[in-house]
Amino acid sequence: MRKSVVAIVGRPNVGKSTIFNRLVGERISIVEDVPGVTRDRIYSSAEWLHTTFNLIDTGGIEIGDEPLLVQMRQQAEVAVDEADVIIFMVNGREGITGADEEVAKLLYKSNKPVVLAVNKVDNPDMRESVYEFYSLGFGEPFPISGTHGLGLGDLLDEVIKHFPDQEMEEADDDTIHFSLIGRPNVGKSSLVNALLNQERVIVSDIAGTTRDAVDTPFTKDDRDFVIIDTAGMRKRGKIYESTEKYSILRALKAIERSDVVLTLIDAETGIIEQDKKIAGYAHQAGKAVIIVVNKWDKIETTEKSMKEFEEKIRAHFQFLDYAPIVFLSAKTKKRTHTLLPKVLEASENHSKRVETSVLNDVIMDALAMNPAPTLKGQKLKVLYATQVAVKPPTFVVFVNDPELMHFSYERFLENRIREAFGFEGTPIKIFARRRA
Ligand code: GDP
Ligand code: GDP
Repeated sequence: MRKSVVAIVGRPNVGKSTIFNRLVGERISIVEDVPGVTRDRIYSSAEWLHTTFNLIDTGGIEIGDEPLLVQMRQQAEVAVDEADVIIFMVNGREGITGADEEVAKLLYKSNKPVVLAVNKVDNPDMRESVYEFYSLGFGEPFPISGTHGLGLGDLLDEVIKHFPDQEMEEADDDTIHFSLIGRPNVGKSSLVNALLNQERVIVSDIAGTTRDAVDTPFTKDDRDFVIIDTAGMRKRGKIYESTEKYSILRALKAIERSDVVLTLIDAETGIIEQDKKIAGYAHQAGKAVIIVVNKWDKIETTEKSMKEFEEKIRAHFQFLDYAPIVFLSAKTKKRTHTLLPKVLEASENHSKRVETSVLNDVIMDALAMNPAPTLKGQKLKVLYATQVAVKPPTFVVFVNDPELMHFSYERFLENRIREAFGFEGTPIKIFARRRA
């Protein structure tokens, strides 16, 4: 996945390089009290709230002996071309200058999101001074201090809000992204290994290996997959607390980027509360879900044991009633070959579109079979339905009054749609809308 790009733009000496250094976290560019001093690095990766992005210090783009105005224009052009979000930086100690207005003019013309940063607001008393910058026309000015590292959190929160929706960008790519989630030691790494059938992932017996999430693309039967490995989520000594927080964020990030989420359960230790929480994230995100019961080799398997375990899962994970369950062993590789076909099927269902005419035949049949209920003396009238989105499949049902659409009737319609079209593995959403 492409990282979002943020560019810092502004006239010389407002503090671009200082901020760049702070955000990148290393002292990698030279700051001197001389305008236009040469930097040694102007492009780097930065991170905020576990979002990594690339940061450009446009002030470091050397454009020879051009006049200041030309330089600024060219720097702004780079920002507009390269960046997803632009930080427009001004100096809170000097107020708006003609050069600021020149930069502003260039940025107006771009349709890139611009976040206005007022630098050198070194103490709270100076916060008043930011108001005049509203007149630049980029909305709320964010007071910051590069020297003291103040206000950067609020600024970056705002910047990140404008990052392009990666899911939308990847929408027409038919590569299937999937991730494995589950608590430590459930066997995520082992299963990644088993699936890839290669030693790219280090499987450790020691709960303590930390690794970053790794994306591994691979092809199977002419289908492209990317496996998003979240197995880096481990406890590690003293930083256990923060790592645990990281692990949840990382899982959420992996889920966000997935089409299909494999939620792993340890057959030996059974279902615990944490499993439900983790699976809940995938469901809430509207992703296709497959429940994988790993370490099945450790269970005395009789005819009954699988059925019993399945019943337990269904009882605990009622919200995942659409998710298929696969019993396997990452260790012995038993039934691991059944997993990718399930991932493929779930992914296809997740992005399936049904024809409006066929959908309405199904809805009308459903209405005939089980007429809409009467609520408070009023009868729900279902006029027609249409699919408005995929990933997950989302339907709008037009009715006389959405208030009359009871949860149980919505559930009934969902079940009819599922029976008719086969949406195994994916949640589906139904919304009632008023139509006179
Ligand atoms: P750029 O050329 O626009 O990128 O600006 P620099 O980052 O080189 O900074 C210009 C000058 O402003 C340097 O002397 C910095 O030390 C100073 N400076 C940067 N940020 C702040 C700040 O938040 N407060 C104050 N008082 N000075 C700052
Ligand atoms: P992760 O923390 O979720 O990535 O879990 P790992 O893949 O590192 O596995 C944790 C431990 O469980 C390791 O000792 C594995 O060898 C073991 N393990 C993983 N899958 C299986 C399995 O299917 N059966 C058995 N018996 N052990 C397994």
